[in-house]
Amino acid sequence: MQKFYKNLSIWLIIALASLLLFNYCQKSPDRHHAVPYTEFLKKVDSGHLSKVTMINNTVLWETSDGSLFKTVVPQTNDALEHLLLKNVAVRAEEPPQTPWFLQTLLSWLPIFLLAFLWFFYFQKGSGQGNGGGGRAMAFGKSRARLINPEESKIKLNDVAGIDEAKEEVAELIDFLKKPERFVEAGARIPTGVLLYGEPGTGKTLLAKAIAGEAGVPFFSISGSNFVEMYVGIGASRVRDLFKEGKKKAPCIIFIDEIDAVGRHRSSGSGSGGNDEREQTLNQLLVEMDGFEANDHVIVIAATNRQDILDPALLRPGRFDRQVMVPLPDVGGREKILKVHARNTKVGPDVNWQVIAKGTPGFSGAQLASLVNEAALLTTRKNSPTISMEILEAAKDKVLMGAERRSLIITDREKRITACHEAGHALVAWMLPGADPVHKVTIIPRGRALGLTMQLPEEERNSHDRTFLFNNLSTLLGGRIAEEIVFNQMTTGAGNDIERVSDIARHMVCEWGMSEAIGPLTFRASNPLSNQPGQIISEQTAVLIDVEVKKLVQSAYDRARGLLEEHRTLLDAITDALIERETLSRADIQGIIEITERK
Ligand code: ADP
Ligand code: ZN
Repeated sequence: MQKFYKNLSIWLIIALASLLLFNYCQKSPDRHHAVPYTEFLKKVDSGHLSKVTMINNTVLWETSDGSLFKTVVPQTNDALEHLLLKNVAVRAEEPPQTPWFLQTLLSWLPIFLLAFLWFFYFQKGSGQGNGGGGRAMAFGKSRARLINPEESKIKLNDVAGIDEAKEEVAELIDFLKKPERFVEAGARIPTGVLLYGEPGTGKTLLAKAIAGEAGVPFFSISGSNFVEMYVGIGASRVRDLFKEGKKKAPCIIFIDEIDAVGRHRSSGSGSGGNDEREQTLNQLLVEMDGFEANDHVIVIAATNRQDILDPALLRPGRFDRQVMVPLPDVGGREKILKVHARNTKVGPDVNWQVIAKGTPGFSGAQLASLVNEAALLTTRKNSPTISMEILEAAKDKVLMGAERRSLIITDREKRITACHEAGHALVAWMLPGADPVHKVTIIPRGRALGLTMQLPEEERNSHDRTFLFNNLSTLLGGRIAEEIVFNQMTTGAGNDIERVSDIARHMVCEWGMSEAIGPLTFRASNPLSNQPGQIISEQTAVLIDVEVKKLVQSAYDRARGLLEEHRTLLDAITDALIERETLSRADIQGIIEITERK
């Protein structure tokens, strides 16, 4: 949406510029030489001039040799009289008109622009933060969106794979259905619940489902909507929101991205919006403290940065119940896939368990878009049902971003990319204990020119040193292959190198995996959560650098050794990639077998 407005404003500017230019050009071909009034009078007095044309107070005249002149005459009638006295024929003309549409346009333009800007701002304000779903309407001055019970179709069984979180919020539903019963029994029901977890794990969905099950109105707003340009707006929006909420009680108020307002007060990026944010946060705290048990409003907030929240938000009476919404495990993923496949036609060969196994780390949102992609692909291919092959393709698409087949790549770039990816793949293949190579491709996706994808055999919750070391070697494999084959370095390895540095630093500083330093952690300062870094001696700092460097160097040597030893294989995989662009695990297996037989 915003992109549309951006384009529109660019077009407006272009249109305006060309109009002005057009206007200017119309006037410009003026071949008349300007001549001062006194000289013009001399000409008239000498009797050489028989006729002139007057436009307002400019006189246009012509000499006998055909040269054109113009003279601006003073604003009196004298000039005209003088001309008539000297028997010069005077023809008066109307000044040229700007075309009427131009005139209207130019006079209306400022108003038009103002209206446009206002509209743009308005759109921006209300467009954010709604997780979609349900026909919602902007409500009141709070900018919150309201989904009425009749409109909400989301129920608890639409939420899958996060059973523990569901159990924890189940009593909220009972409370919202029959609040009086709870109050009579003297039970304390939390007024604030914080859902935290990675993006796309279903926090918004869960909150909507609670409202849907209980049949109560659902107000939703994003924390970033509170914190806008003007001081005081955020606080007044919070006030309005709670006022609306109490009117519609029992109901749920859902605040997404609470970290935008609720960030630790003394932290953050210094200047500007801080005052505004603090005011908003204070208002939120005031409102929550003002809640009575018989207000029957439950505030649910969501965040993926619960570590940076102001502790004041988490105190009793505020968001004192915190529910983690984790990424789903294998079983959970299978359930989520099935939930989203309910309304699609699924072929007989589809085994959801296999797909679930092949998607470790996927969030609910990613799984939802996997199924959606598969459905789209099915239509595009005119296939009657979703097949396993289509699901695999959809998985790649979600994982790596859409293919960018239109990107033009030179042959040399293609060769280098192929060699780079072959390097990653071969190192990963040869290292015992590394995750198996799932797919290698040189079809550009997103910003990457190529990609080597490894998939773990099973779910991993922690990593051992060997695994991390292998990871370093694999990441370096791309750059090393380029060095070996082209004796050249390219920027293509930038992202790999960033990840290498990151992993190596963590191994040394946080996971105690270097011998010289041992099991000690050295936390770097974290500006977001206002955590100071640990104080370390200069010697330790130097030692850390040395250890990180050593670690990366030995991973590099290992990978380089492997690639040099298997140079023929490297070339074979590179060639195959150039020819076929994408290689599966089986393809690589085949190439290795053929090459070894030779
Ligand atoms: P979050 O609020 O945690 O960022 P959302 O609730 O907005 O995530 O999830 C986005 C979409 O992803 C949902 O609308 C739903 O389609 C899908 N989704 C996410 N988690 C789940 C889940 N546990 N079960 C079913 N669908 C899910
Ligand atoms: Zn790479």
